[in-house]
Amino acid sequence: MSYTVINPADESIVTEVEHLDEAATDAAIARAVVAQREWARVAPADRARALRRFADAVDADIEHLALLETRNSGHPITQSRWEAGHVRDVLEYYSASPERLIGKQIPVAGGLDVTFHEPLGVVGVITPWNFPMTIASWGFAPALAAGNAVVLKPAEWTPLTSLRLGELALEAGLPEGLFQVLAGRGSVVGERFVTNPAVRKLVFTGSTEVGKRIMAGAADQVKRVTLELGGKSANIVFADSDIEKAAATAPYSVFDNAGQDCCARSRLLVQRSVYDRFMEGFEQAVKNVKVGDPTLEETEVGPLVTLAHRESVASFIDDSAPVAFRGSAPDGPGAWFAPTVVTPERGSRLATEEIFGPVVSVLPFDDEADAIALANDTEYGLSGSIWTNDLGRGIRVARAVEGGNLSVNSHSSVRYSTPFGGFKQSGLGRELGPDAAEHFTETKNVFFASE
Ligand code: NAD
Repeated sequence: MSYTVINPADESIVTEVEHLDEAATDAAIARAVVAQREWARVAPADRARALRRFADAVDADIEHLALLETRNSGHPITQSRWEAGHVRDVLEYYSASPERLIGKQIPVAGGLDVTFHEPLGVVGVITPWNFPMTIASWGFAPALAAGNAVVLKPAEWTPLTSLRLGELALEAGLPEGLFQVLAGRGSVVGERFVTNPAVRKLVFTGSTEVGKRIMAGAADQVKRVTLELGGKSANIVFADSDIEKAAATAPYSVFDNAGQDCCARSRLLVQRSVYDRFMEGFEQAVKNVKVGDPTLEETEVGPLVTLAHRESVASFIDDSAPVAFRGSAPDGPGAWFAPTVVTPERGSRLATEEIFGPVVSVLPFDDEADAIALANDTEYGLSGSIWTNDLGRGIRVARAVEGGNLSVNSHSSVRYSTPFGGFKQSGLGRELGPDAAEHFTETKNVFFASE
């Protein structure tokens, strides 16, 4: 079995990728078990050095990785470069962890009590197609740092940069079998990560539907899981904010990566008293978004990831959709979709379902209480933005919105040094930040009797 990778910007064939079957997956997991035992015995400073060499290899390959991502996923080249640099940064950040997995000494009677952070063994990382290499690194870097082996299954549509990272790890001197990238189907390779008892933890990023299935499957072996799932995040614009700035930045909070971002602020909540003024500035800003050839330096938004995904996004915008205005997109071959602004009713499909494309639903609200209720009226809780110049309101609303990653007067979500993850059905557990390596360990308590 193999998969043909198509460039979504022009529909040309990029390459063929072989898919592993269940037996090959089991063989790779068995190699990982052997490699992990050795790796856990390597001195912390030497594990740190090995990860820094891996980061250096990524750094030297940034242009190559970026071009690969642009051809495979259609990401604008400047964004692809940022993503490759982010993988290097994540590796560098967690290269400090092996020497800082510090346990506790707990006062008890009759002896010495200490805790250790023991590695889990083999960790299975399953990634989606929207940010293939960055999301992979959030799993593999801290997992390796904590003394685990990693098997990584990239999404069927976007395997190329993950496969390249597997090669770079070997070139940088990581032991054979320690970090393996296994291309294949979710229902084959991904399912096997769930059922093979040698895989001790699953890090899954993808749809809420598949995430629930993985969580249910993992229960059979009480397998540890971290889940990063869907979102329908709110960008809340209060009348007391800098309306011009809020309008000028809003397109990039939802149309970046063609809206294929779990943190996309795909619900834009605008206070009724400034609605018209905001929409005027917003329309201009949407029309100015540069959608086009992702290999060009000036391009801000590329195509959707595949023609099949474009079908899925387009199914939300039929003739009855309340379209307010649209930006532009190229004609001709490629999975193009123009940025689209809709004004649906509260509770409608457009206002509640994750579309995962360049579509934003604008909803007016009356006051602070209404804004909070509307923002929280969703099964998801991943990210969100709050625009206000009232400090007290910024604090109140940030505390009241049920979401894992909020920003006030900005749209930032992801920094490798701060924790990332979702409330409610947007996920379980946290990635990144100073504690991530510990999430790939078991705490062991040992009491040494002194009498
Ligand atoms: P998906 O759930 O279809 O697939 C994700 C991965 O799971 C793929 O590698 C797929 O092959 C694999 N998979 C599918 N079925 C499986 C099974 N039965 N067992 C094991 N693995 C299986 O998601 P997608 O369409 O690739 O990605 C889009 C979704 O990901 C969106 O919902 C988006 O919000 C979410 N996402 C979340 C975050 C986050 O951090 N919260 C980040 C990025 C994307």
